Amino acid sequence: MYDWSADIMSDSWNARQARAKLKASPDMLVCDALMDQQIFSGLGNIIKNEVLFRTRIHPESRVGAIPAKKITELLREVVKYSFEFLHWKKENTLKKHWQAHTKKTCPRCHIPFFKKHTGKTRRRSFFCTNCQVYYT
Ligand SMILES: [Zn+2]
Repeated sequence: MYDWSADIMSDSWNARQARAKLKASPDMLVCDALMDQQIFSGLGNIIKNEVLFRTRIHPESRVGAIPAKKITELLREVVKYSFEFLHWKKENTLKKHWQAHTKKTCPRCHIPFFKKHTGKTRRRSFFCTNCQVYYT
């Protein structure tokens, strides 16, 4: 059975359920949580990098250390960005809208981004240690 409540593009997407799943794994790194298809079905690496940049969260932050208000913002941004992503993809303007993914410089701080294979998933992360908060 496909779990529609975990599908970020579905009308049945259940943010409360996602929050509960995050709460159940406080030691999980947020970069792994976003790639977890049981929690965020349909979310890929580009969306991970862009959403963490937008919400100013360091990818190696522990889920349990991120304030509740920030989690709310993260969940909202995941859905919002996924729809924008789809729109830009259809328009063929996806890359133009990337602010962090594959980028070398932080557009907010004008300093070099860090590029690192983070978490258990070892997927590429692009992030700024100046404006993205490291919650540990
Ligand atoms: Zn920055």
